[in-house]
Amino acid sequence: MGERLTCDVLVIGAGIAGASLAYELGNRTSVIIAEREPHPGYHTTGRSAAAYIPSYCYEQRPVHQLTACSRQAFLEPDPAFCASPLLKPRGALSIADADFLELLRSEYTERQKRQITGEWLDTAAIKSLVPQLADEYAQAAIFEADVADIDVHALHDAYLRGVRKRGGKLMCDQPIITIDKQANGWLVRTSGKEISTPIIANTAGAWADEIAALAEAAPIGLEPKRRTAILIDPPAEAGSDRWPLVAHIGEQFYLRPDAGKLMVSPADETPSPPCDAQPGEMDVAYAAHYAEKALGNPVKAVLHSWAGLRSFAPDRIPVIGYADETEGFFWFAGQGGFGIQTAPAAARLAAALLLSNSLPQDLVQEGLETSNVSPVRQALQAQISAPSGGVKLPGE
Ligand SMILES: Cc1cc2nc3c(=O)[nH]c(=O)nc-3n(C[C@H](O)[C@H](O)[C@H](O)COP(=O)(O)OP(=O)(O)OC[C@H]3O[C@@H](n4cnc5c(N)ncnc54)[C@H](O)[C@@H]3O)c2cc1C
Repeated sequence: MGERLTCDVLVIGAGIAGASLAYELGNRTSVIIAEREPHPGYHTTGRSAAAYIPSYCYEQRPVHQLTACSRQAFLEPDPAFCASPLLKPRGALSIADADFLELLRSEYTERQKRQITGEWLDTAAIKSLVPQLADEYAQAAIFEADVADIDVHALHDAYLRGVRKRGGKLMCDQPIITIDKQANGWLVRTSGKEISTPIIANTAGAWADEIAALAEAAPIGLEPKRRTAILIDPPAEAGSDRWPLVAHIGEQFYLRPDAGKLMVSPADETPSPPCDAQPGEMDVAYAAHYAEKALGNPVKAVLHSWAGLRSFAPDRIPVIGYADETEGFFWFAGQGGFGIQTAPAAARLAAALLLSNSLPQDLVQEGLETSNVSPVRQALQAQISAPSGGVKLPGE
């Protein structure tokens, strides 16, 4: 038998979700984070495009609200948490080729209706931002000035340092193997330890439904989807460090400057089981193809390529709250492609719900309804049990 430990909350997974939630649980709650890998952030958190896009998924209101309420923490973090701002201005251009101009126009109209930021640019204005952009993509664009780069490493690191400062414990190399219900909580076994806890916080990213299965909790129908990225050299003397993020409105590809190089993604969404995602050859080829097409410049070499899993609930809204029928089992999952930019507010919300505290005032003012992120929300349950919706609830 291994070492025996106890805590108030066991957080499973040390990506941005686990790190931020453990931090926000504060110093009155004893917290252990158990992470399977030797290093936290090895999976999706360490593989993101690091963008803060206020308009991202604006149709999904909770995502939009959590993004808005995270802004202040990024711009002016508490100096005890992180010494410098976590956002750097970048801007973003949504572009279209001839086939997608109509979509670009209707997107612009929709944004105006909903008062979402975005300025209509003509060719001259586009070329002043990205002179190398091929003419076929530069007829018109929507520009968002408030898009920024997030220092993901500094953010994740600050959360984990904060956890330790507040008396919490991070244990790496500790895959959760079994979860058993006890009279007054849970007994959780890793390869070398036994942990007794009244509350499990499931922040296991793509593996969140697998953790639920170990605890015999109903799944949320999580769908991990692979997304690929490559790194290439920018065109010579392009001054590309000053370029905005450039994204095709039809989600064919996006590219952004990355420390003197260009990161390019074919914006793929390939369903995948939870795993250590690896880039597919075709996706790498597509990324290089679109980079050549958009910049009119041959890609001589792919300097680096990677992939990560973006995991979505069936309605693409994060899942935050206690499971209905499994006492002491808390969900913080389904952060899809927005888990970094929503982390500060989502973690404050999750901590308040987990500890049954009142909700953060800024989220209340923003109009966030906890029923919209709950694991037992109607929309989610309906899609999980629908024939095409993947996982079925036990007993159905
Ligand atoms: C290419 C790409 C681009 C992206 N771009 C952006 C972006 O620009 N902006 C943005 O906000 N978001 C972006 N995202 C999404 C963002 O990265 C994710 O939403 C976020 O990282 C999810 O964090 P997580 O902590 O839930 O998951 P993860 O980082 O995957 O963490 C889950 C952890 O749980 C651990 N775990 C799993 N099972 C067990 C077990 N049995 N025992 C112990 N530990 C376990 C895993 O090892 C892992 O470390 C992007 C993602 C990708 C792939």
